[in-house]
Formats: sequence, C-alpha cells, structure tokens
Amino acid sequence: MRIVLISTPIGFLGSGKGGGVELTLNSLVSGLLSLGHSVEVIAPKNSKLYESNEKAKLYFVEGEDQISWQHQKLNSPVTIPDNSLLAGMLEKGIDIAKKADVLLNMSYDWLPIWMTLNLEIPIAHIISMGSESSAISNLISKVYDKHPYNFAFHSKIQANDYSFIKKPIIIGNGFELTNYIFQDSVNGPLGWVGRVAPEKGLEDAVYVANELGEKLHVWGVIEDETYASKIEESFPKGTINWMGFLATDELQNELGKCRVLLNTPKWNEAYGNVIVEALACGVPVIAYKRGGPSEIIQHGQTGYLAYPDDKENLLSYVEKIDKIKRKNCRKWVEKNASTDIFANKVVNWLNKVINAYY
Ligand code: UDP
Repeated sequence: MRIVLISTPIGFLGSGKGGGVELTLNSLVSGLLSLGHSVEVIAPKNSKLYESNEKAKLYFVEGEDQISWQHQKLNSPVTIPDNSLLAGMLEKGIDIAKKADVLLNMSYDWLPIWMTLNLEIPIAHIISMGSESSAISNLISKVYDKHPYNFAFHSKIQANDYSFIKKPIIIGNGFELTNYIFQDSVNGPLGWVGRVAPEKGLEDAVYVANELGEKLHVWGVIEDETYASKIEESFPKGTINWMGFLATDELQNELGKCRVLLNTPKWNEAYGNVIVEALACGVPVIAYKRGGPSEIIQHGQTGYLAYPDDKENLLSYVEKIDKIKRKNCRKWVEKNASTDIFANKVVNWLNKVINAYY
C-alpha cells in the first residue's frame, strides 16, 4: 500500500506539543515500513521522524498551528488561522495522495474530516481524543452515515464518547520495543509523565507524593504555566522535581528507574501512551479507572486502577506496588502493543476503507 500520513497541526514532530500523536505517528510509520508498505508523511517544518524511519519520505509545511481542542469549550466554533498549517498540510497531502492508495489523517480537527465528503481519494481518520468539540462530533456523525469505515479509535472507552458509532474500529496503539529497556528498579522514585495541563490532573499525583513525604519526578512539556505554578504553590517546596521534556531515548532511561508511574487524567483519555512506555520499561502504573488507562492496565498484574479522583485510593495502591512483578509489565506490552501488532490492525482497517470506495 502507498499511504500518505497527515500529522498533527499542533507543534512539529519532536516538540512535545502534539502530545501522544507524535509518538503514535512514528510507531505507525515503523510498523508500516516493516510490513513493506510505502509511507509519506506531511508534517510541520522542523519535524523529525525516528532515524529508523528514514525510508519514509517527509514533506514539510509551514503555517500557523491550530488551537488544541482540549483547551477550548465544547461548543467553541471552529477557527482556522490565516496561513493555516492544517490547510497547508491537507493541500499537500491531497496532492500527493492522488498517486497513493489512502490519505491517513492524524489531526483531531474539523477540516480534514469535512474533506471526507468532498474527496474522491479515500481519507481515513485516527481519532485521537474523546469528544472534545460538538462541531467535530456532529461532523463525524454526518460523515459516518456515508463512510462508516473511515474512523478508527484507540480504545473502546474513547469511542463510547461518540455514541452514534455502532461498531467502532479499535486499533489500540503501538510502541517500538527496542526503544525501551527493561529495568528491575524496585526502590526508585515516584514518576509522572505528560503534558502539564489541567486535563492531566498532575495535582493528584503530587498529593500522593506529599502524603508519602517523597518527591514526584515529572517529565513533559509545561503547556500551561499558570496551572503548573498553582500546583507548585499548593504543596511544600521541592515536592515536584521538574525533569523537563526528554526525547524517548532519555525519557525511557529515567522513567525505567521509577518504582511506579502515577497517571491521573481528569478527562476521557483516548489511550495514554505514557502508560505503555512505563510498562515497556518494567514500571507498573497506577491510574484512575477511566478512559484508555482502564483498558490498558491489568489491575493487580501490571498496576492498579483506583476509583476516579479518589486520591486516598491512589495512595493505598502505591503502598502495595511491590506486589506487581515488573516483568509482567514488559510482557504485556510485547504481547499487546508492539509496532507490528498496531500496524497490522491499521492495515486491516485501511483495506476496509479503501475497498468501500471501489
Ligand atoms: N513525552 C516525551 N517526553 C517527555 C514527556 C512526554 O516524549 O519528557 C511524550 C510521551 O512519549 C507520549 C506523549 O508525550 O507519547 C504524551 O502522550 P499521551 O498519550 O500520554 O498524552 P497526550 O499528550 O496525547 O494527551
């Protein structure tokens, strides 16, 4: 298959601003290449793919980013800036896709989904968030009536946000296992990884660290400075150890030293890449039982699922984290979330999309 991928219109690949989509795109490219497919990627200027993905052709587009939907109101109107990066990437993608089998959109936005109704080329969408915008959900509903195969989701619970989708196509996610090294560090620190923004609920993990009289190691882009300072001021100085945003190689090395990863989102997390990355290093994860994490973590085997927003429950599980065998964590990823498993699911899905057009 010849596949043209459209990246996120928020930040270049490698900036961290695009969140999990950046890693998902790279994993998918690896998996598709190893299955022998041809891949072209349309991405913002300065984007970088993994070195091992050098066989994929990368096209750069310049322009203004979109505003991320999780930081807008559910009923906000769709805005498209002047010199729109998203529009530019679509224009380029459509042009290249004339000679390809399928255009695969990884941006969560209105314009590419609307284009589905106006293109003869098959265009498939990996929906990377729960329902964060009425305008987008209503549009998906409309397009779904005509093109029921064109949408795929990372988890069942994410797809439930789109109640009109009767039989959602679930593709999970994939991780390049050679990028993550197993570490058997049972006495390490408490870790937290993610974009520092309100929907990620960092404050609950800091609460747990403070109750235990420990430091919380935090990795990720500080997307919302005001939110970050507010949390810092609510707890004794030094409770948070800000570790910055690291590339995967360094991140996994540091993360692997943790005895547990706390994952505390307040929203319907579509998947939760950081959970699988921790598991791949052998680090068990404690998360709230909501969203993607509740489908990934095997309660009592690879971590624990606490009652949503119940910090005491979260804390009680940290105290028995030594019951989890770190090897089980790595094994789960090998069996369920490798790049090959992911790419195979995506290819099966894309075949369905393409067949429906001819
Ligand atoms: N991440 C990273 N370096 C860091 C912290 C985070 O590369 O120091 C990446 C991480 O690998 C993951 C992404 O940020 O792929 C966060 O994705 P997730 O699915 O957890 O949440 P999202 O940001 O998409 O809501």
